[in-house]
This record gives sequence, structure tokens and C-alpha cells, in this order.
Amino acid sequence: MERRAFLTGSLAVTGGVALTGTTALPASATESGGPIRLVGGARATGHYTANRAPLQKEAFLRLPPGSIIPKGWLRTQLDLQLNGLNGRMPEVSDYLTADSGWAVPSGVGWEELPYWLRGFGDLGYVTGDAATLELTKTWMDRILATRQSDGFFGPTSLRTSLNGLPDFWPYMPVLDAMRTWYEYSADDRIIDTLTGWLKFLDGLPGTQFGQGWGSARVGDTIDTAYWLYNRTGDAFLLDLVRTVHANSADYTHTIPTWHNVNLAQGFREPAQYGVLAGDPSFLAATHRVYDTVMGTYGQFPGGGFAGDENVRFGFHDPRQGFETCGVVEFMHSHELLTRITGDSLWTDRCEELALNTLPAALDPQHKGTHYVTGANTVQLDNVPKSHGQFNNSFAMQAYMPGIHQYRCCPHNYGMGWPYYAEEMWLASTDGGLCASLYAESSVRAKVGPAGGTEVTVTEQTAYPFDDTVTLTLSTPRPVRFPLYLRVPGWCQDPSVRIGGRPVKAATSGGYLVLDRTWQHRDTVQLRLPMRTTVRTWGVNDDGVSVAHGPLTYSLQIEEDWQQFAGTADWPEYEVRPASPWNYALEVDARDPARSFTFEHTRAAAADPFTQTGTPVRMRAKGRRLIAWQVDDQNVTAPLQPGPARTGETVEQLTLIPAAAARLRVTAFPTVGSGSRATDWAAVSASFSGVDSPQALLMNATAQPTDSYDQSLPRFTWWDHTGTAEWVAYTFAEPVRVSAVSVYWYDDTGHGACRVPQSWVLEYLAPDGSWQPSGGDPGYGTAKGAFVRVAVTPVTTTALRVRVQLQPGVSGGLLTWRVEH
Ligand SMILES: [Zn+2]
Repeated sequence: MERRAFLTGSLAVTGGVALTGTTALPASATESGGPIRLVGGARATGHYTANRAPLQKEAFLRLPPGSIIPKGWLRTQLDLQLNGLNGRMPEVSDYLTADSGWAVPSGVGWEELPYWLRGFGDLGYVTGDAATLELTKTWMDRILATRQSDGFFGPTSLRTSLNGLPDFWPYMPVLDAMRTWYEYSADDRIIDTLTGWLKFLDGLPGTQFGQGWGSARVGDTIDTAYWLYNRTGDAFLLDLVRTVHANSADYTHTIPTWHNVNLAQGFREPAQYGVLAGDPSFLAATHRVYDTVMGTYGQFPGGGFAGDENVRFGFHDPRQGFETCGVVEFMHSHELLTRITGDSLWTDRCEELALNTLPAALDPQHKGTHYVTGANTVQLDNVPKSHGQFNNSFAMQAYMPGIHQYRCCPHNYGMGWPYYAEEMWLASTDGGLCASLYAESSVRAKVGPAGGTEVTVTEQTAYPFDDTVTLTLSTPRPVRFPLYLRVPGWCQDPSVRIGGRPVKAATSGGYLVLDRTWQHRDTVQLRLPMRTTVRTWGVNDDGVSVAHGPLTYSLQIEEDWQQFAGTADWPEYEVRPASPWNYALEVDARDPARSFTFEHTRAAAADPFTQTGTPVRMRAKGRRLIAWQVDDQNVTAPLQPGPARTGETVEQLTLIPAAAARLRVTAFPTVGSGSRATDWAAVSASFSGVDSPQALLMNATAQPTDSYDQSLPRFTWWDHTGTAEWVAYTFAEPVRVSAVSVYWYDDTGHGACRVPQSWVLEYLAPDGSWQPSGGDPGYGTAKGAFVRVAVTPVTTTALRVRVQLQPGVSGGLLTWRVEH
């Protein structure tokens, strides 16, 4: 099977305009106007705390908590969160009890309470929920009371828990929580405590910052140091930043970790350090890390990448998942980079995760989460996957509070929507205002020259389900300020009306700029026309995904929800498919987008991120692809080179936003015919232990460097030794076979897998028996090369490689190709 060229442009829009010819770019963010140039520089007035010299000026600032009131579907998400896992987590998490080390220093404590409190506090600020605010204050009082004379606070055990010195990692999220509490409450104890803690860190040997989780996530400490420096001007804080940068994981020149959460947080560290260093090469390093990771492992829709713990060489198929912590940390990073750089590329990336992936990380009632969300995931069960399908072998997919099973994710996910709500509107550092992330809301902010004028902007929109955003200004007096409106990268032709009249807005970077004197009750109507786009993912076998505006679409799969554990209040769910999911799409190669019809449904549910509540959907045509199956542990089989041949009939398919689909196929094969099409196979084996035979499908077009190539998934019969074994391909329809090539796995010098003692190729005869291939194949067992055997051509629906393993050792394959 050879990789077939298909849809030469990777992103095509209605009308057949190819926007880009490459496939290595991250999804949706294919167009960027680059960083913004602020237009109101001379009028900059400092209504909000901004970077102090010598830190570089940032483009945007977060508004104080409570300035933005989210409404509509976003408020619905926050209300679900209030009544869901994050909002009521003290009911279920034994990490949050009053004897936690974060309240009683002799107690136990690490990252869980900090993770939870960070999202919980901001949930209180954006909703105004009294009970949430009260419990936030209770925890702030408890935490502040643990402060010691040397600046240390929190669990005493953390003083020495990292090789005899302090583990500074769990402090990073709690410092975030303390900062927003200060912004909300002006509680001066926070400034003192943060100063004390960072002085304590400054007294540590620099090498300590090269240890533990904190080393890979130290951008968070830099963010807090800047925050404090901007408020106190303490010069030691900048020395601390230099020290932690010099000693921590080096994202500037390398990719120092392949852990998904480390990457989601750590990749921004160079850009953050660059704010002090003033050298653009640091921001370039952040782009390089992002592009490198996403260029291989983020090649499916949704904005995340293939990492349930560590990214693994070769495991980049859309069957993989992205950890929930990775989702929210990546969003947080993109929000932070938006403010530092004023480059809307980062906002697009945040939006892509929020509107396509985050909702599927939670059950519709927000009572549970899971560890990984995949682009192609057709069963969510509580069953461990033991064949190396994922980096983690524990069960990661069922929705549950998961306090101990998932631990980090349920505590950490809570910052996702509250932070999103707080980043919708930003103050620009020239005294203006920026509409950055669109949703129904209102914002109160100081703008304009001198002491500033407090204005309120009310935003009415059904975005992302509609393309129109209407802003209405309320101001006590006419005031001049620039209003920046983000234009998402997928939008080609935005338009603006003021007071109903079309205006030609200036553009700056990825933003429209309306710099004028505003009057009370002025209205701005922004239109962001959405088009259907089809993207081809070359790294992943030319799978295609379809989007309309910011939303990517999934096959609508009937979901069978079964509560398998938990209580009425805290149910735990498995979800299984109750309708077929293995479809290849009929896509018109000349004009891919015309293969899909976008529709509004009449659903008016408060939560659009559900199967019944989605207000939009897509119609498509496809055919079953029978050979595309789940493996023996119900993990979706990987994509195979496309387009795929299928003899099944054409069916009308419904696609829904991926965010509304918990079971999902978002990266589809396409239907092909003739010599361009490939015959997909289902693969099975006599035994599957730590390695899955699905590896042979993942490696269909791979070129191993040698028999011990560790950059590829492998299939072995380990830990069977000396036995007779087989691995088989089954086809939906008969295929004619004239030769096969195998590449044996052999880890001599490292393990106990060797080339087999002998092997034969067998085919399934019409009577159901396995027959040896004819001819004189000369079955070779060479290492470090493809072994090709030509056989008497035969037409069959199944083939198998039957091996006799050498005595005392096991064996396996890296690839197995069939020539037709
Ligand atoms: Zn996690």
C-alpha cells in the first residue's frame, strides 16, 4: 500500500480556493495577520496594571475579575460547572478537606487543591456566586495562615520533598489563584505572601529549578514574578526570572520534554522570558516548539495533540487522545500569549480547543470528566487498554469524578471556562478595548485618555453558531478609544457596521481597528462570514475533517450512556456506540466543501454542546468502511492510507459539532475507486500482549531504519516465546495478492525479540480453511530490511503471516505490506 496523493490543497473552501498547500500547519490557524500594532500609543493612560520597565510592553491586559459578565451558552457552561464537579468538588474530593496541608501545614498536600482552587475561585468571580466566593475566601484565609517567617507557606512536607529541597511546582497554580483573589478583593496579604514566597525561591540554589515538574513548567513562576514586579517594582523578582530561566528545562533551544501537560505549559516559557530579555528569538523559540509538536502530533482537528501522558514516536493517529489537563493548560498558554504578543493566532488556537475539545472532556451535566479526549473515539469505557494503545494503561475514558483514578484532570479542568470568560474582553495597553473571544456578554472597562472613562459594552451574539456580533456601548460622555475586534484566521471577509452603516475598518495584525470618538448607544455590528472548509491531514493518511467557521464536525453517533458506578449525584458513565461509525466520506476532490451542507437545527436548548441541543449540523454522504473496526479492547483502529475502496452503498450522514459529540469521528477516510483507492484491512493476531497488531496499520507507509527502530510503533507476540503464532489481515471484499513485504522486529542487545525461526504466508480459501501461498516464496528472515516474497497470485478476503518463534525468545513485526 502506498500513500496516495489526494486533495492537493490541505484546506479548501467553497469555490475551490486552495488556501494552503501544506499539511504541517496547525488546524484553523492557517492565516494570521501577525502581531497587532496598537494605534492609540500616545494616549496610553495606564488604567490597568501593565508591564513596568524594563519588561517589554504587552499588547493586552486582563481586566479585573468581575469586569466581564458572560451570558448565553457560556453562562450555561459556568452554571453547569457551579453545580458540577468543580463547583461541588469538596463533596467528593478528599484532597480538599480542612486538614489539607494547605490549611494545616503538618497535613498532606500537593497540586490537587491548588489546581481546584484556581478554577473554583475564578468560577466565583465570573458568576458572582456567593457560596463559591465565600469558600474561596475561606481557602485563601487558610492558605495565608500557613505562612512561615522565611516566606515558605503550605504543607511543610513540600519543603524537602524534591531531593531534600522544596518542590516549587504545586505553588504555581496556587499563586495563580492568589493573584486573581487579590485582583478581585484587593487583599494586601497576598502581595506580602507572594513577595515572601518568591524571596524564598530566590534564596534557593539555582539548580533546584532544574528539578521536578516545576522545571518543565517554570513559565508559570515567571508569570507570577512579572505580575508581582508590576505591582511592587522589587528588582529581585527580575533576578529570580533570570535564575529560573537559566536553570530550568530549555525550551529555547530544545524540546526538553514530551509530556503533554509539560509541553502545554512549558512551550511558552521562552516567549515569557523574552518579555524581560527583549530578544525576539525567544518568541520564535515558542513558535518553533509549538509548530514542531503540532506538526506531527497535532494533525487532527480540535487543537490538541496526541498525548495522554507522554507523546510517543509514531503514535499520532486521531485515535490517540489529549489529556484534559493538556486541554486547559494549552488554552491558558494561548490566552497568555495573546496578551503578550497581540497575535490573534494564539486566540484562534485557544478558541479551537474551547469550542471543539473542552466540552467533550466533560459529560453533559459536568458531573464527571475523563482523562483523554480523542478526535476519533467511538467508545468511552472504564476498561484498561493494555496493548500500548495509549501511554497510560489505566482506564482513562469513562466520565466520572475520578478523584483518584484521574486525579489531576478533575482538579485542574475547572479553569477552562472561567478563564475563557475572563479573556473574552481585554484592555489594550493604549487605553482601548479588545473583543478577543466572542460570546454573549457584557464588559465594564476604563478606556480613553486622562483618568479614563468607564464604559459598558453589551455583546449580543450566538457565535460560534452564528456569524454576527452586535456590540452596544454605554458611556457617560463621548470618549475616544480604539476598539479592536479579532478576526479569526478562518474568516476571509469580515465586515463592520456602525449605527447600521457600513464602515471600512483599518486592520492591524489579526484585528479590525475602530479608533474613533464613541457616543452613548453607539452600536457596532461585526459580521464574520463562516464557510465550510475541508482539511486534509497528510501526516495521518490523508484523513479529512470538515469545519464551518470555528467549529469542526463529527459524525453523529448514537450514544448509549450506561451508569456503571457512582451515585445519583455523582454518576459514572460509560458510553458505547449504538449506531455505525465506520464511514468513509464521499468528497468531491475538485471542490471538497461542496460535499457538505450546513444547516441550522431548530434546537433551542441552553447547552448547545449536546447531541440534542446543537443548533447547527452538517449533511454529508458516506459509505460504510467495513474493515475499519475497533481493536479487541474497543479502541478505534488507526486510519489507513486513503482514499479507501468500499463496495457499500451511499448513505446520508449527519455531522454535528465535535463539541456536542462525546463519541466522535472527526478525521475521516474518504471514498476512492480505481487504482487510486486502497483496500483497508482489519488486523488481528494469535496473541496481543503489550503491543497491538494495530501498529502494522499505523506503519503502513513507514520506512523503518532498522529492525530495532524505536521511532515506530511495533507489534510483538511478547511475552510468548518459542511458540507458533500468527497475525492476520482481513478485507471486506476479496483482494488479489501477488506479494507481501514484512519487516521483522528484532531487539537483539536490548530485549528478547528476534526474527522468527520460520514463517509462511497463508490465505483464506473459499471453504474457510487457511492455505499456504503457492509458488516458491523463499520466506526470508533478514534483519534490517524489507523481506519481500512473491507468491502465486490469489484472490482472498484474508491473509496471515504464520510464524514459528525461535526457542526461548519472542518476535514481531514493524510493518507488513500487501501488494495487489
Ligand atoms: Zn490531568
